[in-house]
Amino acid sequence: MILKPTDLRPHQESQTLLINQQSLERIQKGEQVYRFGFGQSPFPVPAEICSVLAESASRKEYMSVQGYPDLRRAIAEFHSHTESKQWDADQIIVGAGSKILIFCLLAALKKAEVVIPAPSWVSYEPQANLAGLKVSWIETSVEDKWLVTPERLREFCLARADSSLPLVLILNYPSNPTGQTYSRAQLQDLALVLSEFEVLVIADEIYSLLTYSQDYATLDEFYPQGTIVSSGMSKWCGAGGWRLGFVHIPAELGELYFKTVVGIASETYSCAASPIQLAAVAAYSGPQLARNFLDKQIELLVQISTFCSEALCGAGVKVHSAQGGFYLFPDFSPFTEKLKVAGVTSSDELTRKLLLDTGVALLPGSAFGMRPESLTARLAFVDFDGSQILDEDYKEIEFDKVKQGIGEIVGWLQQLN
Ligand code: PLP
Repeated sequence: MILKPTDLRPHQESQTLLINQQSLERIQKGEQVYRFGFGQSPFPVPAEICSVLAESASRKEYMSVQGYPDLRRAIAEFHSHTESKQWDADQIIVGAGSKILIFCLLAALKKAEVVIPAPSWVSYEPQANLAGLKVSWIETSVEDKWLVTPERLREFCLARADSSLPLVLILNYPSNPTGQTYSRAQLQDLALVLSEFEVLVIADEIYSLLTYSQDYATLDEFYPQGTIVSSGMSKWCGAGGWRLGFVHIPAELGELYFKTVVGIASETYSCAASPIQLAAVAAYSGPQLARNFLDKQIELLVQISTFCSEALCGAGVKVHSAQGGFYLFPDFSPFTEKLKVAGVTSSDELTRKLLLDTGVALLPGSAFGMRPESLTARLAFVDFDGSQILDEDYKEIEFDKVKQGIGEIVGWLQQLN
């Protein structure tokens, strides 16, 4: 036998793939599926940016590992305009999506403890494991809007078994899976603890431009010396499959760390695709085009998320309306007893039964680091036609499928005995 199972790293079957598989089986049988499981942007990439990509198709050369200098400058300027970031383009690394860059940031560390809030995005833990780092979790609660509080963070830091290991906190806001974000005051308070315990933070701000309120807060303002920001085109520009992301590493973390990360990038993905980088220059060079595009997306997302959260709250589910991005994180614990009677005692069973009974596909809270018995799930309210925003004279947004799917969940909860 060339490969034995014991030769392989431990792995878990991805819950996303599992739900997609079950959804496909239903579709093949001609049954309805409400696709709230897979969190892809429903919006199209603006046509102006697509045409630059088409014109750049012949650019076949490798670009520098760190990223095309014009693009890095455009990113720094864009984020200075939109979020008042004071970034030096030389401290930015462009890559094939922010996901691989987050991995490079972790892989550059020989030893570290990576602390991840529960719930968090699905890939942080596997990435830290692949990088050979220790993983710890900080639990959050629906009452705290799933946010890490300074008290919890301080408690965690004080209770660490080995405080000589560098500590890395991965903080994502607005959050996938919860849709929640931090206020300026909350980040300021967290920054005090972070600086006291010298924590390295990876601030995953991939949804930052889809924050609903104009008053966007970033940890980069309150803890710039220890905050690496990651972002990219996948969410705000609807371009997930283009694979274009970046990280900004503060100079205070030292040249050696920066060079180590670039070195890992050079040994793995080499550079982001050259035509994509040129199209990205166009995306990051037009703040006005971006603003118009973002305003339309946000207007629509606010309507849909408000509809979903009000309907679910009205049915007795604990859920906070989203503050950015396109996710809600409903907590079905008020139905614990009734669900138990229906044979549901975990988030996996909850999402499986809901899909089977109603065709609504959600992802279980367990996929995001919640305890198996937590009756939580992620709802991505993206099953609608995002190209509506390209129509200049649209009067009313159509999102009937989302409405029907939410209606199915409400009906399902009502029929529980
Ligand atoms: N971080 C979060 C929280 C995400 O939801 C995603 C994509 O789903 C990513 C990072 C990865 O983004 P990218 O497409 O830039 O790799």
